[in-house]
Amino acid sequence: MLEPPASAVLVEAFVNTVDVEEASDEIAAPAALSAWLVGRGLLDEPAEITADVHADYLALRAGLREELGSHVGDTPDPELLTAADRVLAAHPVLVTARGPLTTVPGLPPERRPLTVLAIAWNELTTTGDATRLKRCAEHTCAWAFWDVSKNRSRRWCSMRVCGNRNKSRTYASRKRQTA
Ligand SMILES: [Zn+2]
Repeated sequence: MLEPPASAVLVEAFVNTVDVEEASDEIAAPAALSAWLVGRGLLDEPAEITADVHADYLALRAGLREELGSHVGDTPDPELLTAADRVLAAHPVLVTARGPLTTVPGLPPERRPLTVLAIAWNELTTTGDATRLKRCAEHTCAWAFWDVSKNRSRRWCSMRVCGNRNKSRTYASRKRQTA
């Protein structure tokens, strides 16, 4: 089963709201975050997002991106992981006898998606699929991708672009050293 599950599609979309190569960020401002959440069906209607809530989304995204980087051998920044953990700890999930994890009732609508993301991430780590979700090892790209390879060995989002880019740079630096 190499098609990404819905939880992976969601987490991948969330962490890819930032595009390192293009230096753009779809959720850079609270209003843009609100629009993104509506677009993903995570919010029914645009909501007023405070600076605190906005910061929580950015912290969670940064932490998840570090974790995905660790799946290609990068060393995660412990401070970013801790900050993301703090966000998650403040957004408890509800366990019921009737079914899967859900959001806690009464959570403000603009905070609920943080729990939805937490549940999606939890599902991926529980099934082991999380290790297929990776951040491209080419740091100028850093795009998150779903590794469909059988042995989960891919390190670049696209072998054709990033893998080659990485190889030619290694080659260039080697040439410089020998010159
Ligand atoms: Zn890449």
